[in-house]
Amino acid sequence: MMQESVQGLSAAATLEVWEQGAGRHPLDQALLLLRYACPDQPFEAMCEWTIGQRDAHLLALRRQTIGDRIETYAECPGCRNGLEFQLSCDALLSSAATSGKTWTTVEQDGRAWELRGPNSRDLALAISAADPEQARRVILSRCVRGGAEDAAEVWRGADETALAGRLSELDPLAEVLIDLQCEQCGQQWQASFDIVTFFWNELHARSRRLLQEVDLLARTYGWTEGEVLRLSEQRRGLYVEMAQS
Ligand SMILES: [Zn+2]
Repeated sequence: MMQESVQGLSAAATLEVWEQGAGRHPLDQALLLLRYACPDQPFEAMCEWTIGQRDAHLLALRRQTIGDRIETYAECPGCRNGLEFQLSCDALLSSAATSGKTWTTVEQDGRAWELRGPNSRDLALAISAADPEQARRVILSRCVRGGAEDAAEVWRGADETALAGRLSELDPLAEVLIDLQCEQCGQQWQASFDIVTFFWNELHARSRRLLQEVDLLARTYGWTEGEVLRLSEQRRGLYVEMAQS
């Protein structure tokens, strides 16, 4: 993996990404972010990263842009009590798949299958399916091969739930589940954490704050948007304080 080469988003890049991705599907927002995170990677190749590989790069981008610590919350399914909890980008990255192989052979139902983790193209096809059942079949038909026989025929009749489970094992970061326990009623449950939605919401809030700062500093000092955005975070913050005092 090449998360080390990921550069954080500058203030100007944050606004560009936010403007281009607003209102688009999270699959598109994720790919847009990757173009900024990894400008040297061909776009076609990024579309074929597994969802876990994609999210590993997004976690690295989030760490470089905002920091390692993620503060989030979930609602207890038992008593609706809100529970705040913290995650670390680094800790999540340590559970990323280490294998760079595309196809992996696994044993299931007494036979060998070739599996690969679903990527952005697979998901783009699956979201246009009529229902979740059909979506799962779209994924399986693209990501499971039954060895030498005709793949499309082979996986039918197999234990599809088990095969889908084997797919997620291959790419642990594709679905992040956090074990939680409610402080009020003691219920234990698993909450899913989606870096795309979470990071996008953060960038939305950050963009709004940046524009407010541009507005304030432009009116106070007569600077252009470009000039304000080129200031370091620290300097911009100090000027904002002075302009407000
Ligand atoms: Zn509870």
